[in-house]
Amino acid sequence: MAKVAEADVGKQGPNRLETAWNSEQAARTVSIVKRVAGTWEDRSRAVQVLRALCDLAANEPERLDPSGDPGEWGFLAMEIGEALRRSKIAGTEEWATDPDKAKSRMTEHWPKLEAIWERQRPTISDGLDAEGIALSPRPCRREGGGAGKSTKYGFRLDGHERQPGEEQPPDVDLLKVPQVRYRRQDISGNRLVRWMSDRGFYLGGWGGRIFIGALAVLLACTIVWAWLVLIAMGTAPTAITFLKVGLIGSFTLSIGYLLLAWQMRLVSNRVTPAPWFLQPMSKHDDYLLELRRNEEAERNTMYLVRYVADCPICGAKGRDMIHIESGRLEFFGRLVGRCNRAPNAHVFSFDHVARLGRFLR
Ligand SMILES: [Zn+2]
Repeated sequence: MAKVAEADVGKQGPNRLETAWNSEQAARTVSIVKRVAGTWEDRSRAVQVLRALCDLAANEPERLDPSGDPGEWGFLAMEIGEALRRSKIAGTEEWATDPDKAKSRMTEHWPKLEAIWERQRPTISDGLDAEGIALSPRPCRREGGGAGKSTKYGFRLDGHERQPGEEQPPDVDLLKVPQVRYRRQDISGNRLVRWMSDRGFYLGGWGGRIFIGALAVLLACTIVWAWLVLIAMGTAPTAITFLKVGLIGSFTLSIGYLLLAWQMRLVSNRVTPAPWFLQPMSKHDDYLLELRRNEEAERNTMYLVRYVADCPICGAKGRDMIHIESGRLEFFGRLVGRCNRAPNAHVFSFDHVARLGRFLR
């Protein structure tokens, strides 16, 4: 490990950006690292060592210059001990004065520091990104070997390079999100579902008349039943009977609501989520019922449809990701398009006639 680190110092790999050494920027980079490290929960000695090293490097950034004199590169264990003592951290007296103690303490804490760095890589890289820093620092140790040379500690400051697999958030201006265009999507399902989506259900035909007639009977029954329940509750001899009748009544009426409410919504909004028996068992419950009036027909035709759109915020990964769902409390009574990847943030309006939507956040 140490040998590899030594060989890397002062030499840039083929896939790194060649950047000229800039002491000012190096100092700024390590100061930001120190500030980010101050926000971590972890207050262990290894983090204190890291922050002390940042202090040293911010004061003398030229000592991290990979193209400088190799003898001048980095900071000694005792210098780090001195920086810790200056920060008034308890138990670091000997670290600053005894070379052997300093050496053994650094040998003990350096691997921990590297492990913490690895775990905190996202917070460091986001912190640097926010400040517009194009360097990606990494803690680095150079073994002294024999002949009185001491081990030195510092940072490698390479041109910016993202770790593979680290996801770059798309570059979108949330104040100028373009509108989305809804497309119809294939509907799979049983024969009734297929027939409804392919042909539509013309409400003016004999089938439609039976359907509407059945609905009217159902509605009338519900009203009569609700009236009967009220009468029964009013004439109940005891409190227990009163409660029983009330319970049975509300139970049956909620079944009536489930059977009828979606049709009320369909008539008033002309588009509504399809009832449960028309929804697919798997995936999304995003099948809709839509009323459309054909040019020559007198009555509406009811279609089973499904819409998707591409999420402009998610970019390439947002393809077909927007599905139609309820507006929930915030957009009560409305249907909205929600992106699968962020259903409560990437929310778009839904207009089934224009088939357009705009960003609602
Ligand atoms: Zn999205």
